Order: sequence, then C-alpha cells, then structure tokens
Amino acid sequence: MSFSCIRLSKICFLLSVVVCAVLLLLIPKFKTDWRPKSYPQPRPPLVFNGSSKSDTPLQQVESSSTDHLDDETNNMVPFIKDELVKQWSNYITDTRRSRLKATGKMNESPVNPLNSKMTNNVEPIEVSAKEKLELNDVFIAVKTTRKYHKTRLNLLFQTWISQAKELTFIFTDWEDGELRLRAEDHVINTNCSAVHTRQALCCKMSVEYDKFLESGRKWFCHVDDDNYVNVKTLLHLLSAFSHSQDVYIGRPSLDHPIEAADHVRNDASTTAKFWFATGGAGFCISRGLALKMSPWASLGSFISTAERIRLPDDCTIGYIIEGLLEVKLLHSPLFHSHLENLQRLRGDTVLKQITLSYGGPENKHNVVTVDEVFSVQQDPTRFKSVHCLLYPDTLWCPPLMLK
Ligand code: UDP
Ligand code: MN
Repeated sequence: MSFSCIRLSKICFLLSVVVCAVLLLLIPKFKTDWRPKSYPQPRPPLVFNGSSKSDTPLQQVESSSTDHLDDETNNMVPFIKDELVKQWSNYITDTRRSRLKATGKMNESPVNPLNSKMTNNVEPIEVSAKEKLELNDVFIAVKTTRKYHKTRLNLLFQTWISQAKELTFIFTDWEDGELRLRAEDHVINTNCSAVHTRQALCCKMSVEYDKFLESGRKWFCHVDDDNYVNVKTLLHLLSAFSHSQDVYIGRPSLDHPIEAADHVRNDASTTAKFWFATGGAGFCISRGLALKMSPWASLGSFISTAERIRLPDDCTIGYIIEGLLEVKLLHSPLFHSHLENLQRLRGDTVLKQITLSYGGPENKHNVVTVDEVFSVQQDPTRFKSVHCLLYPDTLWCPPLMLK
C-alpha cells in the first residue's frame, strides 16, 4: 500500500512537472495573442511645409485637436488627413514653399473646362478672342527680393520686361535707387521682410493683390523673378476670356487637389479640397474674380487668411478661389516652373509657352532646350536665347538672328 502511495505521488509529481512545462511553453503564444494585432504606425515624414523652418510643421498642423487652435478667433485650422499624407508620400518638400517636388507623375490629370486639349498639350490651341486686350489691361506682378536685384531681375529687364514695361510691376523688399531710376513707379517696395518665409511671401502677395485692384486693370498675373514671360502668348490666352468672368488659370504643382480642414464655415468636419496654381510657374486671375476675393484678400486680410490655414501664398490663393468661392482653376500646361523637367521642352514649342523658368545653381541643367543663339556658358538660363528667337531685332542679339 505504502509502495503504491509513493508511486502514485511520484506519478503526480511527474504529471505536474509536465503540465508546468506545457504551460511554460504556451506562455509566449498567449503573449503574442494578447497583444494588439497592429501598432500605430509612425507618421510619414513631413511632406508639406509652408515655407520657413519656423513654420508650423505638418505633424502639428495635422492634429484635429484644439491644441493647435489659435487663441483668437481662429476658426480655421489646417488639418491634413492621413489619406493625404499617404498620397503625398512621394513628394519631397523643398522646405520653403509650396513647390512640391514629385517623384511620380505631375500635372497630368486635370480637365480644363476651357478646352480639354490644353491639358497635356504644350502646343497652344487656337482660341477665339473674346476680348481685345491692350498691353495696359494686364498687370504682371514680379516677386523679387533685394539679393536678386542685380542678378535675376537684371536678366528679366534685359529680356522679357524690355518688351513689357507697361505691364510689369516689381514687388520687392528694399528701396534700391538704381532700380527706382530704371522702373520708376513700376517698382513697389512692399516693406515686407526680406526673408524666404511663408509670412514674408504672403505679405508680398497681399501687396501685389492690393496694387492690382488699385490699378483698375483687367487681369492680374503673378510670376517669380526666375520666370520668363512670353507676353504675346499670355495676351493671346487671356483674350480668350472676358475679364469680368471668373478666371483663375495656371499650372497645378500636384496631380491631385490639396485637402485642408475648412473651419471657416464653423464646421470642423468639412474639409476643403482644392487645386492651386503653383506660384513658381505664374498664374493669372481676372478682375471679376479678384474683386470677389476681396473679403479674404484685400487690405491685409490675405495675410490673415494665409495665417489661419498656415499654407503658403499660392495655396492660399487656391483656397480662396476654389475652396471658398468655388471657382475652378483652369489647368494650363503652358505655364512652367523649375520643378518640372524643363529639358523636355525643346525647339519651337519653347517659344509657344506662356512662362518658362530655370533650375537654380543646384540644378543648373534644368533649362529649356533651344537653338544655340548663345552657348550655355554665355546664357546658362537660356532666357537670352529664347528672347533673341522671339525678338530677333533686339540690339544685343547676334546679327545672324535678323532675317
Ligand atoms: N523670394 C523672396 N524673398 C526671399 C527669397 C525669395 O521674395 O527671401 C522670392 C524670389 O525672388 C522668387 C520667389 O520668392 O521670386 C521664389 O524664390 P526662389 O526661386 O529662390 O525659390 P523657389 O521657391 O522657386 O525654390
Ligand atoms: Mn524659383
């Protein structure tokens, strides 16, 4: 009896050891099962940053929490949705403004209500003129800054501005005696700060807008100081519309609309989805539409609109027009910024575009391809060659150009 008792307790002991071992083996399995299946993923890196390093980064802006609301009457907070972050993950921000560099396709999808042929075609199509335009019906605002007066701006004066003095107004941030002598009251010292921040750039856009309204002209066009403007093709395009219609035309920098929370309507659940024309390619707005923008754009309100959505100047224009006024951007492939591969534009096609640009020192090969009027060493931006091809009787163009 005692023998079988000892055996039984041995068996019990062994059994409990086995059960313990099995339990120990099962623990890791339970552990994994108890864990949540997926962890919150880290957010993608910033893909959109208004302009300066001091700007509110997207990750902050993204949050829908009221933490990011301004104290005052800020009822409009930018809120970029997760979906948008995903969509934009192919884009690399240049950290200064809304020029989003795409690794994917750009500017291919939109339909132009004017003529869908314009969408992908860099060849201008024949449009019947609606309105005969004089040079002084158009107001071209060139945005510049002190450090580019001698370089970029001089090149523009030498080339396209020489053919468009009446239309062109220079918006800068410094009183430059030489520039004043040259352009007189066509130079506007905005008194905005000479820095490349979203606020400073919006400040300039705000002054551009006010000066345009004051001028009484029919069309407002904005360009950067690294744009060449073909005034003939620009006038041709604009004359296809009536200036009293609602017209906003330019090149979108993305192939999809941007989306931001529309707190202006006191309803945080609605988001504004809108296209905007990239400032670096230039864009135009009719007077009829510009007047409607006034509540959000005139006399400094542009700055507060931009500040409230914390988006750069060109996005803010798109927000006011598409997002608030519900007027569609006309997507035109004839406007060009240096975010595109400009080398793809070649030959006579170059001369039919409305605006051109060139890559900066960090990307100096990104220029249009035109006949060798001047060598690349003599004319690294290609603007002089383009200008001589368009205006061969210009004094400084090689005599061979005269036909
Ligand atoms: N700009 C400015 N203030 C600055 C720097 C630039 O007004 O401190 C203007 C510049 O003259 C140009 C535009 O902003 O018209 C865009 O500048 P840039 O071409 O240097 O930069 P991007 O954004 O095209 O890379
Ligand atoms: Mn530029």
